[in-house]
Amino acid sequence: MEAVLIKKMSQHVGQQVTVQGWVYNQRSSGKIIFLIIRDGSGLMQAVVVKQEIGEELFKKIRSLTQESSVRVKGLVREEPRSVGGYEMNVTSLEIVGVAEDYPITHKEHGVDFLAEHRHLWIRTPRQAAILRIRSEIEHALRNFFYERDFILADAPIITPAACEGTTNLFELDYHGEKGYLSQSGQLYNEANAMALGRIYCFGPTFRAERSKTRRHLLEFWMIEAEMAYYDIDDNMKLQEEMIGYVIQRVLDKCLSELKTLERDVEKLKAIKLPFPRISYTEAVEILKQAGEEFTWGDDFGAPHETIISSHFNAPVFVHRYPTAIKAFYMKPDPDNPEVVLGADLLAPEGYGEIIGGGQRIDDLTLLKQRIAEHKLPEEAFAWYLDLRRFGTVPHSGFGLGLERTVAWLCGLEHIRETIPFPRMLHKMYP
Ligand code: ATP
Ligand code: MN
Repeated sequence: MEAVLIKKMSQHVGQQVTVQGWVYNQRSSGKIIFLIIRDGSGLMQAVVVKQEIGEELFKKIRSLTQESSVRVKGLVREEPRSVGGYEMNVTSLEIVGVAEDYPITHKEHGVDFLAEHRHLWIRTPRQAAILRIRSEIEHALRNFFYERDFILADAPIITPAACEGTTNLFELDYHGEKGYLSQSGQLYNEANAMALGRIYCFGPTFRAERSKTRRHLLEFWMIEAEMAYYDIDDNMKLQEEMIGYVIQRVLDKCLSELKTLERDVEKLKAIKLPFPRISYTEAVEILKQAGEEFTWGDDFGAPHETIISSHFNAPVFVHRYPTAIKAFYMKPDPDNPEVVLGADLLAPEGYGEIIGGGQRIDDLTLLKQRIAEHKLPEEAFAWYLDLRRFGTVPHSGFGLGLERTVAWLCGLEHIRETIPFPRMLHKMYP
């Protein structure tokens, strides 16, 4: 018989089904064993009665260790008091593998220990719930763009030049030439947008971050969209629709996971479109009113972002940052060239920047000038400049950090739990 997923148990009430999984926990009362089985999709209680299953097998099951793998067959019934809301009355059980002493027991463990055992830590219900939500978010993002006729155009991971300086780049030997791991697909996205109109890429991004924070990984996933003929306002509108779409999907599909994580879903449900939009200059005012010493022209740090976002119950766009602190390709505001037509999206509840985006320079002369001002080698950008030579158009784009989005929607304190195997400063194992 085909095995069924615990998550789908509501469809099998009154039926004999097989579940393939692992023993998460068990307790017994002499004649009955209550097994908690996990199968990756959820948890379910399986009830083993000695009289029904026979003395010998009963004894074997009694001695089953945590994380032993089993196939259990039995009758499903509704049981609101049981984890997941369903229970199985076991008629047969096959032991697939007996586990050795499992290091992650049901008592509390320190986070360093857990991180060293990440390959096992991901089996715990909390971690598995996060990873299921992550998967749902990835699917939702792809669906969002698919439904809007965006073309998925993958950007290269190995790149010849640094798009925003080399300090954060992982260098590699490209058969004698210097290559770098991509820290953004944006420049290639711009070329793809001129070829295909509206595009996105979704891939791993590498940044040799040098400080330990709760928000930075050295390898993370970014979804980056680029749209021909979009200005800064079109860009923000698309982003808020995307975030709204993702929130709705997670609320529709992941309620039990959010419950496992004890996420306050009311905060997510309360988020409405459109999101507030404030200028960098207005954001600086908020900081000053909060008693912060802050000079116009400086970049925001994480504490600043938290203060700014605490004024809103939804994500907030901060637009028109000082030109001097933003990348060379950002288009200066024609009404005030001291600022650029860029916007970052700050998540509520102190989760900080989840999107960076903006309108790009479309004028060849200005772009060349900015490359020179940033002391970047113009030769390296010859192909990029071509995009302004051959049919230049206003265009905009953005990059959403997947892990920060997962951290926010799941309500996690630290980004290390948002990806199966996080890459962090001085930490590569496992
Ligand atoms: P920050 O200032 O917070 O370091 P950034 O301005 O360098 O971020 P961008 O270059 O704008 O980031 O990248 C776009 C998005 O990618 C960010 O909004 C964020 O969601 C995500 N991101 C950037 N760096 C990291 C990182 N090291 N780990 C995880 N996500 C990141
Ligand atoms: Mn940014």
